[in-house]
Amino acid sequence: MTDISYLKAMEAELLLAANIFEEGDEAIMIASPAQIILKVNKAFTKITGYSVDEAVGQKTSLLKSGKQNAAFYLQLWETLKITHYWQGELWNKRKNGEIYPQWLSIFEKCNAQHEIEHYIAVFSDITDRKTAETRIHFMAHYDALTGLANRVQLHEQINEAIEQSLDKNDSFAVMMLDLDNFKVINDSLGHSIGDELLKEVARRLLECTRIEDTVARLGGDEFVILLHDLGHYKNEAADNVAQVAEKVLHCLAQPITINNHHLHITTSIGIAINTDADTATHLIKYADNALYSAKSLGRNNYQFYSTEMNETANFRLTVENELRYALEHSQLELYYQPQVDIKTNRISSAEALLRWHHPQKGMISPAIFIPIAEKTGLIVLIGTWVMRTACLQIAEWNKLQLTHPIDYLAVNVSARQFIQQNFVELVINMINDTGINANQLEIELTEGVLIYDVDDTLKKLQTLKELGVRIAIDDFGTGYSSLSYLKRFPLNVLKIDKSFIDTVVTDTSDAVIVQTIIMLAKGLEISVIAEGVESEQQLEFLRLRECDAFQGYFCSPPVPNAAFLALLDRAKAI
Ligand code: C2E
Ligand code: CA
Ligand code: CA
Repeated sequence: MTDISYLKAMEAELLLAANIFEEGDEAIMIASPAQIILKVNKAFTKITGYSVDEAVGQKTSLLKSGKQNAAFYLQLWETLKITHYWQGELWNKRKNGEIYPQWLSIFEKCNAQHEIEHYIAVFSDITDRKTAETRIHFMAHYDALTGLANRVQLHEQINEAIEQSLDKNDSFAVMMLDLDNFKVINDSLGHSIGDELLKEVARRLLECTRIEDTVARLGGDEFVILLHDLGHYKNEAADNVAQVAEKVLHCLAQPITINNHHLHITTSIGIAINTDADTATHLIKYADNALYSAKSLGRNNYQFYSTEMNETANFRLTVENELRYALEHSQLELYYQPQVDIKTNRISSAEALLRWHHPQKGMISPAIFIPIAEKTGLIVLIGTWVMRTACLQIAEWNKLQLTHPIDYLAVNVSARQFIQQNFVELVINMINDTGINANQLEIELTEGVLIYDVDDTLKKLQTLKELGVRIAIDDFGTGYSSLSYLKRFPLNVLKIDKSFIDTVVTDTSDAVIVQTIIMLAKGLEISVIAEGVESEQQLEFLRLRECDAFQGYFCSPPVPNAAFLALLDRAKAI
């Protein structure tokens, strides 16, 4: 009798091995040293399409696609010889001729004498993974909405252009575009129309550029065009880019029809040429600086980057940093400008206007630093400071029991500040903390703020109005002037913009506009004030048309608190 439990165990193990060989998900192929196929499994048949009978006895080259060159195989065999192992990705051919990517491992099985006995190849079909990779690559490099290149791809292309321009001494340019009125269209007509518009813009940009140029979308309505082969000389390059820029402006200015909406857009363009900087990041930044100046020069035009522009940009940056400091080190102050009741000639209210006393640069105008604070978001902190200071000031005036007190103080509120979720809460807290009456406070908003998010705005304004806070529309007539909001929103005051008042006695159309705004306000029972009144004639014009109030140098410029109190002491405003 012999104990065969050892043999039984061996048999079981072999069976298991055979099972794994046969049923595994990965294709397995065993070949002789002469690369003749000896054995294959089910997964092999599934992937390659060759049955066991068709494969066994054939050379392994049966599977070759021809996509890898001789050098590839040479390297593969070299590695195998040294390490007895190779692993990597390659393309092979199925029985039906289809070429597919596979992940392949090859082992050399040697005998005790170190002679090769078998080659064992294990592989899987990685078509799915490849497709996913291609998709991921596409998503990482292209903009999903327009199919244009995205920021990543653009950077790669610019870097390539930088290298090539060094080799060939050829110029290229980075052109940054921004649609001037996209936000208005997007906000008022909805995002799906906005999207269609962006797609159409993308299409037109491709149309006005050459195939070798790159058109990219960086997000929102920001597009960049990378223009190649602009010639050897900087002037020549500038001429060529200018031509393209004009073409682009013209092309985008043609009306676009989407869902029966006829849209007119204009574009601003900033241009940097390769000699301006030597990194992609800087070129994009400089083009952006140039764009900023194109915008401030009235939009619908193009500007080249220049060193002075760089200085302006640096100034912006310095201001931004110093403004933070100013806020914390009480370099900010509120001035007060009287608002005069035209009928009674009484200072009935005032507007609080921010002043920055810079220790070196002197007084910096809010017209300069407010837009910068808007861009960086610092306006939220500054605005909170203004609101608190204004409320404290009202409280102090209340305590003084002035002989000629004003009814309310108007405070400018910027868009970015107003759209903060806790804006209303903040105002309520300050009113409560300082113990002032809500109707002693007026907030001045511009038209843009109102239509930014109509529902949210309406809710906020209604809450404020119920409390008693007054609401004024600043710079009326310069914004989108959608008349329907005048009816919907609970407004107290319209402020006719200074630009109309400037020429109200010399320009008949401005006179008509001012007169119409006054009538409009009266019809809607909203009171109306003219800002920027500097002369008797302007005031006379307003008085004849029964404008309620005015504000301007004709009475007084904005002044510090002490001077303002002196103005209030006078029996008459003017
Ligand atoms: P705004 O709200 O339209 O303010 C009116 C501007 O016109 C003020 O300029 C004022 O000094 C000026 N002004 C008033 N009357 C006359 C006049 O008769 N002739 C002339 N030539 N100018 C006159 P300022 O104080 O430089 O403010 C400029 C802008 O800065 C303001 O325009 C407002 O948009 C913004 N701003 C000022 N203070 C604040 C603030 O506390 N918060 C926010 N968010 N913005 C502010
Ligand atoms: Ca104002
Ligand atoms: Ca104004």
